[in-house]
Amino acid sequence: MSLVGDFRRYVIVGNGFAGTTAAEQLRKHDPSCSIVLFTDEPYTLYNRIALPPMLRKQVTEQKVIMRDLAWHEKLNIELHLETRVECVVPAEKIVQAGGKSYPYDAMLVATGGRPNPHPAPGSDGGNVYNFQYMSDTKAISQELETAKAGVAIGGSFIAYELAEAFVSRKVETHWIMRGPYALSRMLDDVAGNMIDEAAKADGVHMHYGDEITEFVRDNGVVKKIRTKNGGDVEAQCYGVGLGLRMNTEVLDGSGVDTSANGILCDDGLETNVKGIFSAGDIADFYDPILEMRYRMGTWNNAGAHGKVVAQNMMGGSEKYHDVPEYSSLLFKGQTITQFGLSPEYRKDIETVFSVDKEKKWYRALYFWEDRLVGGLFMGKGNRSGKRKYVDTIKSKERFPKPQWKTMLEWTHD
Ligand SMILES: Cc1cc2nc3c(=O)[nH]c(=O)nc-3n(C[C@H](O)[C@H](O)[C@H](O)COP(=O)(O)OP(=O)(O)OC[C@H]3O[C@@H](n4cnc5c(N)ncnc54)[C@H](O)[C@@H]3O)c2cc1C
Repeated sequence: MSLVGDFRRYVIVGNGFAGTTAAEQLRKHDPSCSIVLFTDEPYTLYNRIALPPMLRKQVTEQKVIMRDLAWHEKLNIELHLETRVECVVPAEKIVQAGGKSYPYDAMLVATGGRPNPHPAPGSDGGNVYNFQYMSDTKAISQELETAKAGVAIGGSFIAYELAEAFVSRKVETHWIMRGPYALSRMLDDVAGNMIDEAAKADGVHMHYGDEITEFVRDNGVVKKIRTKNGGDVEAQCYGVGLGLRMNTEVLDGSGVDTSANGILCDDGLETNVKGIFSAGDIADFYDPILEMRYRMGTWNNAGAHGKVVAQNMMGGSEKYHDVPEYSSLLFKGQTITQFGLSPEYRKDIETVFSVDKEKKWYRALYFWEDRLVGGLFMGKGNRSGKRKYVDTIKSKERFPKPQWKTMLEWTHD
């Protein structure tokens, strides 16, 4: 262990839930270490999953901010706001930012991803927005004060959140996507149709199998979109949800292995370069429960990673041992709960599902090599048994195929 004086030096890039949780844990377990935390945003940690309720005006900015400057001072965490880390130099064990070098004994890259811009001409800036940051939320919110119509673009969760916010702000809402239904990389058509029903019941105009060919501007402002299927849609606010690109550039030239999918790391979240770790959305990690490598873009996963990685930055050997899960409302009439993996992660995952049309319930379980690896429940009150499913995933127990359907009936929590 390399020490300067009698304290250990930690540098963390990214102050999202993964990075800030790691900083908090490091301080908790090591009162004398130095912790330097960087973010290129102007905000202390805020609750990214509370941005949709903030856009719907259900919570204030004040409630969304989770940690203030005083908290960082109290924990003696040296926070650098609006400071982009340029590179990491493992040979010298330094991180470079703002023309200065910051030495580390262990460092963490928890830089998440940035949203993809829309590729069509005219999409750049003005009243066309992504929805990832606090600053996006404030800008869209301002636009919605006067907008009469809005277009949510893409079949993703973020596009859904935009459509839902437009509806709740009483703006005529169009939702346009290339796929045959929303969340089509994850859901089958049965579940997709349930979202369709919920969206239409909330007055959303759904445009499937279509894509924007041009954002038509007048005096710099987008007045309408032109689509492949020939329709023009006029609106004042356009929200793009076309996935994320991972912020791996900070490791360019460092020798750390990265892929288009993120930063490659092991089951303790350490990269191939000793002393450099990764966590949260950007970590393409090896999951010892599911025995496969993947990247998970959920809030709970970011927090769980933050805890594990802090232990290992201190020299521990903790393994990530969690099954990520999340729940969300889908317009007024639907809910969705997902845990573990889905067919979005591996094409060879097999699905069994059941539907109760009256209750608007849908339940799917996902299997890989005879093991339960994930599940998805839709419908209010349809979460019974979730704990048992999650424990079963952790147990790695194998189930013969004829038994899979009966597992849909598990009820106790
Ligand atoms: C609108 C929205 C709604 C969501 N809803 C849900 C939900 O309901 N449930 C759920 O589970 N998940 C949800 N998510 C996903 C969830 O928010 C993320 O999985 C989680 O916040 C990721 O945390 P992170 O710490 O890994 O990364 P991030 O929160 O992305 O933080 C990374 C930070 O690093 C900064 N950074 C990047 N590069 C550098 C650099 N070189 N130097 C300095 N700083 C840098 C970034 O600007 C950012 O501030 C939602 C996300 C969004 C955007």
